[in-house]
Amino acid sequence: MNNIIDGVAASLELKKNIKKKIEKCGLTPSLAVIMVGDNKASEIYVRNKKKACEMVGIKFTKIDLPETISEELVINEIKRLNEDVSVNGILVQLPLPNGFDEGKIINEISPLKDVDGLTYQNVGNLVLENECLVSCTPAGVMELLRMYNVPLKGKDVCIVGRSNLVGKPLIQLLLQNDATVSICHSKSVNIKDYTKRADVLIVAAGHPNLITKDMVKDKAVVIDVGINKENDSLCGDVDFKEVSKKASLITPVPGGVGPMTVASLLKNVVKAYEVQNR
Ligand code: NAP
Repeated sequence: MNNIIDGVAASLELKKNIKKKIEKCGLTPSLAVIMVGDNKASEIYVRNKKKACEMVGIKFTKIDLPETISEELVINEIKRLNEDVSVNGILVQLPLPNGFDEGKIINEISPLKDVDGLTYQNVGNLVLENECLVSCTPAGVMELLRMYNVPLKGKDVCIVGRSNLVGKPLIQLLLQNDATVSICHSKSVNIKDYTKRADVLIVAAGHPNLITKDMVKDKAVVIDVGINKENDSLCGDVDFKEVSKKASLITPVPGGVGPMTVASLLKNVVKAYEVQNR
């Protein structure tokens, strides 16, 4: 049996459904991306987002601001987009150049347009289980688990990595699905004790080969969020070659969680559009 999760196929299915919905209901969602300075990796990410938006019928606008711009002017741009009723989603491409206060800038985005789900309001609403926009990578991970019918109720799930972007929102999403969640980080002692008992292991640490075969339970589902560059190619945080022999399901890198992150962004833009037009 093929135990490799196909994130590209799953994301295509999601995109097809989003496109169908946009066409059928005559929706006109739009996304504005603010990019400060030029960061090569960010350029690629933004290009992928543009391509994905165009594929499903979401209007995409990129606002390029110079690295030398003041924080105040970036905030003014966000305020302008908050007021613009033709813009449904606003995303500030991270990381911002050194010297910018990311938290302060992100929190200027209207929570209704915060399609990255990073404002205090969306994070708080996620914890309280209120309607909100959820950070795209965790949402993409949950969508993959759903599409592959991975049971979560009563299951042991271990997350490695506690970032605001990935690990922390995942805790809430998994709890909402009745999983028993443990979370490891760089100060955890003997993370193997936690990873080894997990029915579902989700890794988002940014360290190649952090998770080796001996750290994984037999037949576990392994979701590798990590993206690392090694010898000019990409790899995750899991020793894929060895762990895939043991896992019941495993995501590859690339082609696993990455495409689902972009698909979740599209879903968030449509959700933001619908909430704004209720
Ligand atoms: P981050 O903010 O750097 O957080 C990394 C987390 O991993 C931290 O909580 C850190 O612990 C923990 N960690 C680091 N080394 C560890 C170790 N040896 N053992 C246990 N925990 C360890 O990174 P992030 O933004 O969450 O991203 C994580 C990875 O996912 C990166 O490779 C990133 O490129 C990738 N990513 C992929 C996508 C996608 O779409 N596929 C999206 C976002 C991120 P402390 O809190 O103690 O420092």
